[in-house]
Formats: sequence, C-alpha cells, structure tokens
Amino acid sequence: MAYTATLEEEKKEIALRYKDMLKDTYQTLSKEDKALIRKAFDLAAEAHKEQRRKTGEPYIFHPLAVAKIVANEIGLGASSIAAALLHDVVEDTDYTFTDLEQIFGNTIAKIVNGLTKISRLNKDQNISIQAENFRKMLLTLNDDVRVILIKIADRLHNMQTLDSMRSDKQVKIASETLFIYAPLAHRLGLYNIKTELEDLGLKYTEPDVYNDILAKITDSKEEQTNYIQKFTDTIKASLDKEGFTYLIKGRTKSIYSIRKKMLNQGVSFDEVYDKFAIRIIYNSTDSNEKFDAWKIYSIVTDHFNPNPKRLRDWITQPKSTGYESLHITVMGPKGKWVEVQIRSSRMDEIAEKGYAAHFKYKHGSQSESGLEDWLNKLKESLENPDVNAVDFVEQFKLNLYSKEIYVFTPNGDIKSLPKGSTAIDFAFAIHTEVGMHCRAAKVNGKLVQLSHELNSGDQVEIITSKTQKPKLAWLDIVITARAKSRIKSILKEEQKVIANEGKEVLSRKLRHLKIKFNEKTINELVNFFKLKTSFDLFYRIGNGSIDNQQLKKYASQKSNALVHFFKTKMNRVTAEESKDTALTEVSNNYDSLVFGSNDEKLNYSFAKCCTPIPGDKVFGFITINDGIKVHKNDCPNALSLQSQFAYRVISAKWIDSSQHGFKVELSLTGIDNLGLVNEVTRVISNNLHVNIHKINISGDQGYFQGQITVNVKNNKELKNVILQLKKIEGLEKVERISN
Ligand code: MN
Repeated sequence: MAYTATLEEEKKEIALRYKDMLKDTYQTLSKEDKALIRKAFDLAAEAHKEQRRKTGEPYIFHPLAVAKIVANEIGLGASSIAAALLHDVVEDTDYTFTDLEQIFGNTIAKIVNGLTKISRLNKDQNISIQAENFRKMLLTLNDDVRVILIKIADRLHNMQTLDSMRSDKQVKIASETLFIYAPLAHRLGLYNIKTELEDLGLKYTEPDVYNDILAKITDSKEEQTNYIQKFTDTIKASLDKEGFTYLIKGRTKSIYSIRKKMLNQGVSFDEVYDKFAIRIIYNSTDSNEKFDAWKIYSIVTDHFNPNPKRLRDWITQPKSTGYESLHITVMGPKGKWVEVQIRSSRMDEIAEKGYAAHFKYKHGSQSESGLEDWLNKLKESLENPDVNAVDFVEQFKLNLYSKEIYVFTPNGDIKSLPKGSTAIDFAFAIHTEVGMHCRAAKVNGKLVQLSHELNSGDQVEIITSKTQKPKLAWLDIVITARAKSRIKSILKEEQKVIANEGKEVLSRKLRHLKIKFNEKTINELVNFFKLKTSFDLFYRIGNGSIDNQQLKKYASQKSNALVHFFKTKMNRVTAEESKDTALTEVSNNYDSLVFGSNDEKLNYSFAKCCTPIPGDKVFGFITINDGIKVHKNDCPNALSLQSQFAYRVISAKWIDSSQHGFKVELSLTGIDNLGLVNEVTRVISNNLHVNIHKINISGDQGYFQGQITVNVKNNKELKNVILQLKKIEGLEKVERISN
C-alpha cells in the first residue's frame, strides 16, 4: 500500500498521534511534565523532519509510537517518554549528546546516549558478536534500567512494522527478538509485551505455523466465549451474594506458547487442553485484598472441583518480577480442566504492565520484591569479565526462562532460585564463602549430595568445611550464573597458583639441565610442547603433566652434548619397559598396594616413566590432577620428585590381600570430612586389629559413600567393628551388606 498523504494531512496526522500518545497519561502528568514532553517532541520532529520510514511515512511516527508504548504499556513517567521521543536523534541526526545534555539535562541525555550505544552495537553480526552486544546492552542496566525498557519498546514497534523490511532482514530481526528481547521482557515482568514479541517473532520465523494456529484460535473463539459464559453463570450468584464487584474474562494463550506446548508435548492444536485461562479480576481494598482472593477461591471451588496439585499462590509469595495472582485449575463446565486466575485490579495492572506498575504501587515501607535482587545479581555476573559472551547469554537466557522455586534457610528465611537449582546453587546464593566451602547439605533434615536438586518448600542447611574448595565437577552441577561465575574465577585463581609454582620448578629444572631460563627458552619450550602460551607451559609443569622425562627430551634435542649425557639413562628405561610387559603376567602373593603409615588402600595408577610391578620397591606421588602415581624407588625421576616435592610423596607397600578370615562387606554413609578415611582405617586396623580387605569410597561432593570389606573372625568381632565405626564423627550410617 503506497503512502500518498499530502503535507497538510501529514501535519494533522502527526498532531493526532501526539495526542493519542498522551491520552492515557495526560491526567497524571504535571504541567512541567507536559512541557518537557512537548519540548522533546518538538525537537525530535524538527530533527527527523527530512527522514522517512521505509513505508514512506514521516520518521517521527516511530518515536511517537515508541513513546506511546513507554507511557501506556510500560507505564513510565515524563523523562522516559521524553527520552523515547528523542531515542533516535543522536544516532540519526546532527544533534549530539552534549546538545541534549544542555537542552534536557543529564538524566535524559544519558538515557538517549545509552540507547544510541545499543543501536550502534546492534548492526548485523554473527551470533557471538550479537551475544557480546547483548552483554554490553545489559551493562547499561548499571546506569539506568529505563534504557532497557525503552529499548524493548523500540524493538516492539520495529516488530509491529516489520512488514516493510526486506524478508531476509525480517528473519534476522525476528530471531534476535526471540533470542534476546522476549526473554528480557519476560524477566522484567512485561508480560503483554513479551507475548506480543514472541507472537510477532514466530510470525516472521515460521509464518506457516503462525497462520495455522491463528486461524484455529479464531475458529474456536465462539466455543470459548460460550464456555466462559457457562462458567460465569455458575458462580455469578455466589459472587454477587458476597457483594463483590468483579470482571470475568477469558485469556487465550499466545500463539507462541501454544506452539511451544504442541512441540514440547508432541500434541496437536486440539490436544492442547489449557489454551485459555479464566481470569476473575475483583475490586478490593489494601487490607482485604488477600482475604478476598481466598474468598473467591472458596466460591469457585464450591462449584468446581480443584486439582490440588495445580494451586499457585503468588499473592502470599509474589514472583520476583512483582507478579501477584492466585491460580487454580478446576474441573470446569463440560468436564474440562481450566485454569482460573484470581487477582485484584491492582494485581492485574502489575501483571499486565510489570515493573513500573509494581513500583507505582509500592508504598515505600513495603519490602522490596526480588526484582532489585535480580538486578544486583545481574550486575555481579556482568562485572565478571571471565565469562565469555556466549556462555553468558546462554546462562542468562536459562535464568530468564526458568521457573522459580522457593526454598528456606534453616532460620526460615526464603530464597528464590531458578528451577533445577542444586544444593551448591543454594550455598552460593547464601554467600560466596558458604558456596566455596560447602561440603554437604541437609534437605529437610536428611543428608544429601551437593548435586541434589532442590524443590520448592525444601528447607536447606549447608554443611561447610574450611578445607573444602570448589571443584571443576561443580560446574556441571550448578545452574545459576552466580555460582558458575564464582566457581570459575576461583578455579582460575588456583590455576594461577599452580602456574606460578610451575614457573619456579621449571627454572630449577632448567638450571639442572644447564639451560638458561629466559624468554627464548620459554618460547622454544612452548613450541616444543605445542602449547599456546607460557601460562600453559608453567601450568603443565606445575601440575606434573609435563614431567622431567619430557623436559629432557627437549634438552636432548637442544644440545648434542646433553643427549650423550642422558643416553645411558634413557636406554635403561627402555630396556626395563620391555622387560616389565613380560613380567606383569606373573602374579604372586603381592597383589595390592597400601599407602602411608596406616596402610591405607587408595586409588592409584602406575607412572609411565618406570612402570613398577608387584614386588618392586615403590613410593606414591600425589599429583594434582591425576591421583596417586606409583614410581619405583630407582625411577630416574625419583630423586627430583622426592627432593622437590617431599610433601607430596607417600610411602607405599605391597600386600597380599587374600588373607584368611571371614570377609564382610559394610556400607558407610556420612559427611566426607578430611580425616574420615583415616579415622575409619585407624579404628579398624589399630584399635580392633581387624584387617581391611577392600575399601571403596565415592562421592567427593561432601557426601561420603563407601564400601569396606573387612576380615573378621566371627560375628561378635563384626558387631564390635560396627559399634566402633558408628562412634566416628560424620559417619551417619554403618550397615552390613548381605549378599
Ligand atoms: Mn528506534
């Protein structure tokens, strides 16, 4: 449809649209507010006067529409309306930030500036740059959350007028909307805008699906109206009798969410049973609001049977977005389940408009909802530069969409977490220190693993230990952005410590090898081991994954003289290696290793440099990442390991595990505190003089689970073992496994 308006018609239309923009808020605005908005409009109209939209319409139509969304749908005040009118002025015209600052003051100029930055970032890019942009955009939340709200309004209008765009651009913009703006609107509680963004997003990314569902919804409209009428007729008399003034209406699910349901549940349109909800909006006073909701609940359930599993009380515990409502699902007319949402007109406005409406109703003294908490958390994760942009967006998106659960601290304080959160997420939500040192958790009084997924209503107690440190595996367990970023930065710190240690070690080792420790050598080493940075090199030396043998290979390549020097040693190792393979088959009485002065059974593996076999004199070396490595006493690396890392060397000896006696397997569960294994072996071996045949301990998340096989002479001795074990602090349960 071509645009054909004359200049005169255009002027009229602009004036009309200006009036329309303010029609809902006009009454509440002060004289100064109105003057400010007028000034902003005049400047914007003048600045954009030469510009046209793709449709041929005057450009000012766009800022006017954005300002209308900001005023009516988001419910923001005069500065935001003015900023919305001005939002494209700096980007598209000759006006500068300084101009706006002089004319409108710092606040409005800064908001426009934030919006300008975003639009400059927002040029077509690949996904990861897009993600980076998104992160930068969220960074502006630090300055003023209104920037984001106006940006969302801007995007909504762009989506509403997307028809005039080229179709490849349509798909790109629509995908970005679904990826970023809809979740953001959702998290800010702008439900109407979110729904519209999603539906429009679907319209341009999957037009066939969109049109199909739209047609079906239109078809079923009459049926729906009849259904709501039946429902209303049934409860009307009871509501009237109680003197309520109320409105009952049907609320159809969005096209996008019906589509999501069809996909998730693998069902057809007709099989989606809760395509619409019934909403009862009542008038009430501040003090009666909650009571009235439950009175209406009582009336509804007098007439229709509720599904007890589908009761959601967002009034007593509002969502972190400020959303309040009482939801029940009842067996409605025609034997169909239907969701009924009961809310006051105040709650309804919050639900529709979100953020701004929420703050409008806050009477200062009232406790803050989770929104500011959320903004603070968001700031924290934004300020962590270690998280890369794509990860960040993925995590953030996850947090945006996930449903919330509410759990209690031991004191009965309530914490909200995303659904799927584990005990570790909870620990980090309490405090970083608690998270860092968490060892185990008790949920409703019962000991659980740290990976235990929490449910709404759980009371959670975290058991900490000073010696506990975050582990790499925790990253697979946690789901909150906060816990993830904390764990990552702590692990990174540890890597730095190891790398520093490695640097020292390397300088010493090179000295032994008579090689200068300088930049040239380090570069050569980095290349030799096919690494990227010197940090990688130091880290690998520090954790032992590059050992002496490998360093010597480098040295031998570097210097012929050195090759000669080590040749004899190398030859010996190779000779022994081949001999070893032949001998492994021959087993004797020594079939197992024990470590330390307590002869502990620990997991170990054999070092590749010397490949010990049963009977060899050996020692254990505790590596940082790879458990205990067993070396022969005369291993070429032995001396340097023992002299440089004495504290990591542990004595080892071969034992014959097939001793006589009565083998009994016990299962142990408890809290994995540092000395527990020691304590168990000490109690059994030293105090009771019973032999441990086998010990197997698992669960390093603070929750200790183990099987232990002991050799006992009789039942009496067994009972005594169990009795003594139960006295150990931290051991919750000791049971005999019968099989
Ligand atoms: Mn714009």
